[in-house]
Amino acid sequence: MEEKKIKKPELLAPAGNFEKMLTAFHFGADAVYLGLKRFSLRNFAGNFTLDQLSEAVTVANELGKKVYVTLNIFPYDEDLEEIEYILFELNTIKPHGLIVSDPAIFLLAKELTDIDVHISTQLNVMNTKTANFWFKQGVSRIVVARELNLNQISNMCKNANGEIEVFVHGALCIAYSGRCFLSLYMTGRSANRGECTQSCRWNYKLLEEAERPGQYFPIEEDERGSYIFNSKDLCAIPVLDKLIDAGVASLKIEGRMKSMHYVAVTTDVYRTAIDLICEGKREDFEKMKDSFVEELSRVSNRGFTTNFFEGTPDSSSYNFESSKYINQFAFVGSVVNKTEEYIEILLKNPLSKGEIVELRDRGLKVEKFKVEKLFAANNGEEVEKGNPNTVVRVYGNFNCGVNSIVRK
Ligand code: SF4
Repeated sequence: MEEKKIKKPELLAPAGNFEKMLTAFHFGADAVYLGLKRFSLRNFAGNFTLDQLSEAVTVANELGKKVYVTLNIFPYDEDLEEIEYILFELNTIKPHGLIVSDPAIFLLAKELTDIDVHISTQLNVMNTKTANFWFKQGVSRIVVARELNLNQISNMCKNANGEIEVFVHGALCIAYSGRCFLSLYMTGRSANRGECTQSCRWNYKLLEEAERPGQYFPIEEDERGSYIFNSKDLCAIPVLDKLIDAGVASLKIEGRMKSMHYVAVTTDVYRTAIDLICEGKREDFEKMKDSFVEELSRVSNRGFTTNFFEGTPDSSSYNFESSKYINQFAFVGSVVNKTEEYIEILLKNPLSKGEIVELRDRGLKVEKFKVEKLFAANNGEEVEKGNPNTVVRVYGNFNCGVNSIVRK
């Protein structure tokens, strides 16, 4: 028997640049979050200029989607003048929300704009009273701390006076977000200024203790060393139905610095799963859970954990052997043009004649084919190999849309 439909939460995807935003929208994101060139805590992502943001908001409005701007740095006094200027500009561009951490930026956003303000996970909101404090100040949404279990999230959704947003997928800190000084201490680059060097994922060995020269603490796991702080990535698929039942307003995917392949696949999997749950097809969701996780494991990950959702994480939530990303596929490029006769692919990695690739479109659609012939899109000449940042044409009536992706 079909169950009754429940309120669908927003699916919120990362957009490290304009292309990734288009990919996220194509694969089913309701909204994206992105950073400007400064003050967004991801200084190493591509990020957006104010002009690009303006274009992004126009595209989103046309598609009925939303764009949220992260301004979640912890600023010094000398940063505030530039932040005021940016807020002034943002009030003209009108993104659909501003994600902030610092009370100074919150106050300036309220003073200088009429844009909705969301409180970032960097502020570690852990309880309903704190949430309601912020709602009383005029924020419209809180991205709660990643250290809450399902009961605590459910309680906040019931009793807080505004929207609750939760991270469902992506990399995790071993520290409370925003309260980690490891990178600053080790390298002088502060996580709270968008420059985290991921020091928690380095290969550590304990030093000898002063009274016992020459003796080292035996923490090595094996010859590869020991990655003692290296958390696996969050994957909420096993508990997604429970988060939706709890009344979470927005489900967020981490990863503004991740690839277009990652954005496409994570967005598509969570889009499909959310639709099944909310459209009363829970048996199908249960049956597909393993295949969802399998597909997610094909894009960069460090193994998966449900983190705090099901209780305090134990040692199985850490990857002690390696901090490298696991990738089952190499991203080839994205489809930028499609006719009934051919597709054109903007390459991000080389593609050669004879290679077998997968065309991956929304709805978990995969079409595998051999590249029999390859043509340069600019002059139509046949080529043996296409190089990154060129557009190649492959003939065939493929069942895909523009912004679908190709991988091998
Ligand atoms: S060093 Fe690790 S725990 Fe600390 S902020 Fe960076 S990623 Fe997070």
